[in-house]
Amino acid sequence: MSLPQPHVLIVEDEASQREVLVYNLTAEGFRTTAAMDGEEGLLMVAEEKPDVVVLDWMLPRLSGIEVCRRLKINPATREIPIIMLSARSEEVDKVRGLETGADDYMVKPYSISELMARVRTQLRRVRPSSIGEMLTFEDIALDSETHRVTRAGQPLKLGPTEFRLLSTFMERPGRVWSRDQLLDLVWGRDVYVDTRTVDVHVGRLRKALTAAGGEDPVRTVRGAGYALG
Ligand code: CA
Repeated sequence: MSLPQPHVLIVEDEASQREVLVYNLTAEGFRTTAAMDGEEGLLMVAEEKPDVVVLDWMLPRLSGIEVCRRLKINPATREIPIIMLSARSEEVDKVRGLETGADDYMVKPYSISELMARVRTQLRRVRPSSIGEMLTFEDIALDSETHRVTRAGQPLKLGPTEFRLLSTFMERPGRVWSRDQLLDLVWGRDVYVDTRTVDVHVGRLRKALTAAGGEDPVRTVRGAGYALG
């Protein structure tokens, strides 16, 4: 089992532009979904939280700037990076775009390879393991490309679920994850699993991490969930 592909949501009303984006992002190894207007875009974010949103400014029903504003004031979605696309090139628009909380901004016609690079930049920030980055936390190192995990230089044996749990933890050390969040991220939203399953796998992960000695780096946060460190 490999890590889930990074998911990019495209919100663009022009069919030809949408197709170019879907084609190129898919070729880059991303899972892509697409919405045709602002309202649909908002619904799709709520339904299946993407890792990055590529958002056109001029959209029917609800403008890109309004979609951006709503996503950034909602605590459930504010951490999702948004790259805004706009045909307008005025500096004032760029400032407005970024003030609304967009994480990046590109003016049409943009270079597709430049856009791919910027999507990767955002992913590196929020989900580094999804693009094959090496993650480290104290003496633990996780290579998401080869799926090798070491502690103090010694290889560890982890099951696929424990590997995914650990990479989720290592992407955001210190962050407290609820059992429900972990279920969504590690098992996927379509899978029905009891939240106690999370406890079982965290237990196995702890056992693997401490098998050769060393402190247990996973912290249980009462009433909240788990955190690394
Ligand atoms: Ca448009």
